[in-house]
Amino acid sequence: MSAGRSRELWPVLLMLSLAVLVPTACVLWFMTQAMRNERLAVRQKLEDIYQGQLAGVRDRLDDFWSKKLDALANIDPKQPPAEVFAHLVNTGVADSEVLFDDAGQIRYPNQPELGEAIDLEAWQDAEQLEHVEANPAEAAASYATIAQQANDVNLAARALVAQARCLAKSGQRQVAIKILTDTFADPKYSDTIDPLGRLIVPNAWLYALELIADSSDPIYHQIVKQLQQRLIDYSDAALSATQRRFLMQRLMELLPEKPRFPTLDAEILAVDYVDARLLPTKPGCLMRSSIDKVWQMASPDRTIVGLFDEDRLIDQMRIAALSEVSMTNARVILAPATAASDGEPFLAMPVGEVLPDWQLSVYLQGDNPFAAAAEKRVAVYLWTGLLVVLVFAGLAVLIARHLGRQVKLTRLKNDLIATVSHELKTPLSSIRVLVDTLIDNECSDETQTQEYLALIAKENLRLSRLIDNFLTFSRMERNKRAFESREVSPAEVVTEAVEAVQERLDSAGFELSVDVTQNLPQVSGDRDALVTVIINLLDNAIKYSKDDRRIEVNVYETDGSVYFNFADHGIGMSRRATRRIFDRFYQVDQSLSRQAGGCGLGLSIVKFIIDAHGGSISVDSQPGKGSTFIVRLPMTEQ
Ligand code: ADP
Repeated sequence: MSAGRSRELWPVLLMLSLAVLVPTACVLWFMTQAMRNERLAVRQKLEDIYQGQLAGVRDRLDDFWSKKLDALANIDPKQPPAEVFAHLVNTGVADSEVLFDDAGQIRYPNQPELGEAIDLEAWQDAEQLEHVEANPAEAAASYATIAQQANDVNLAARALVAQARCLAKSGQRQVAIKILTDTFADPKYSDTIDPLGRLIVPNAWLYALELIADSSDPIYHQIVKQLQQRLIDYSDAALSATQRRFLMQRLMELLPEKPRFPTLDAEILAVDYVDARLLPTKPGCLMRSSIDKVWQMASPDRTIVGLFDEDRLIDQMRIAALSEVSMTNARVILAPATAASDGEPFLAMPVGEVLPDWQLSVYLQGDNPFAAAAEKRVAVYLWTGLLVVLVFAGLAVLIARHLGRQVKLTRLKNDLIATVSHELKTPLSSIRVLVDTLIDNECSDETQTQEYLALIAKENLRLSRLIDNFLTFSRMERNKRAFESREVSPAEVVTEAVEAVQERLDSAGFELSVDVTQNLPQVSGDRDALVTVIINLLDNAIKYSKDDRRIEVNVYETDGSVYFNFADHGIGMSRRATRRIFDRFYQVDQSLSRQAGGCGLGLSIVKFIIDAHGGSISVDSQPGKGSTFIVRLPMTEQ
């Protein structure tokens, strides 16, 4: 039976599973696609926003560089190169520059031009005294004489320096200092140069400082001031870049307070640049120089190459172009394209023609912003998808139940037809045989004829009972049995039912004891239906009893209910069987039940009627020891 049932059901279940699984799979697929698209859409939206902001950054960078380029391009070629250098550095156009002439020769940082060598006998004698004879005092006198007699101011200045040197060597420091400071204060010496082309006066001042050594001396301060002023005065064309840088560095070493020379770094960088390999440069473009982290940009006519320190440049460009950018959960990085970066940027774009080797990148910070934005929509999709899947599943369950019920009903109908045909056939064939015998006049004996007629009547009665049960069952199936609810006395119901089976009880030799408590309350229900219940139960007791033919009926009231107990001492049944006997067509032992004239419907009819009356039925049984059926019916409410 169960194998047949599963065979009937599995295609249905398979189809149902497909009906759920296929749309569910489709919904899930659509959902994943939708979620992916949503994420892409949000990403695209963010990209558009960020791209707009980066375009603004590029515009501001273009402004920033066009100003610098204008500053480099608008330099008057006639302006002295040192002045140009200082101007561009001091106005922040570049961190340093190298200036070229039209032929590509370096104009700044410049070397001094060599001065005239000294070709004088007296000078050689003085040098002899100083260096060979180691007589600085006399050498000083000789140099003093040369200075006094010299027509050439350069020679006079050189002789004075030599005199001071010799005086210092001979222990006359103060005199030496006086010469270096007082004498050289005379403006006529201000542009004098030594044989290497260096200005004599600034060097003499430096020498004086070295001789004084005591920084608290007022003269010391005065010289420092004079020297500093001379060094920062870039209109002084006589001072070469080399000498200026040397003096600045020397002063920095010498003075404890470390004077600040705003152009010193620029000077050093320019010289480093000139000393390094010159890389080709394209005018108007920021390009790498051969010095690490230093960038160069040539003016359109290539006469000025601005030099830029990478770190400072990034700071400047950030202030100029990035300070207005506001991005939540993202930051913009402006850096050379080859610079090491932390992870893959969300968006990267070149900066433009002026900065071909640079890149603007957007990095996402904290929680992924587009994921967060997409999350909300995705949640909606998820819930919708879930709902659809649940609806599918719910519908499938409902359909499965409905189909299950239909299948069960069909099976019941088939069973019913089979049972009905079989059950009707047995009494009918008995009747036919008996009637045939009577017709053929084969039994002449009156008593035998009576016996046959009694048998025919019995089979007829059995047939009627069967048909009654089938009809009741059929009505039940169609749910058409309408019970008439009236006040019914339990005692009367029992009496009526006992009367109906009395003959059967007597003929089979049963001993029936009925014990009905006095003055039982009424129950409300359908009298005929309740009589049917008791008849069926007594009938079963008769059918399933063997030698011990006693039946006890007890009717009593407890806890607002009326109880009907039917106890027999028959064949009984197993515990397992007790759980199924109320199922339609269930019979513990089919051959025995058929022999007894049952069709497996009696107890299901009983249960149906009792349930319809709001009561309950249970059974207590043991194989071989008999069964007790307990029917409970609620009392009519007073
Ligand atoms: P049937 O018409 O076959 O008697 P029922 O629905 O009345 O059908 O009973 C179902 C089955 O329960 C019976 O076939 C029988 O095996 C078992 N049964 C019912 N009443 C008793 C009883 N008093 N003692 C033993 N078995 C019983």
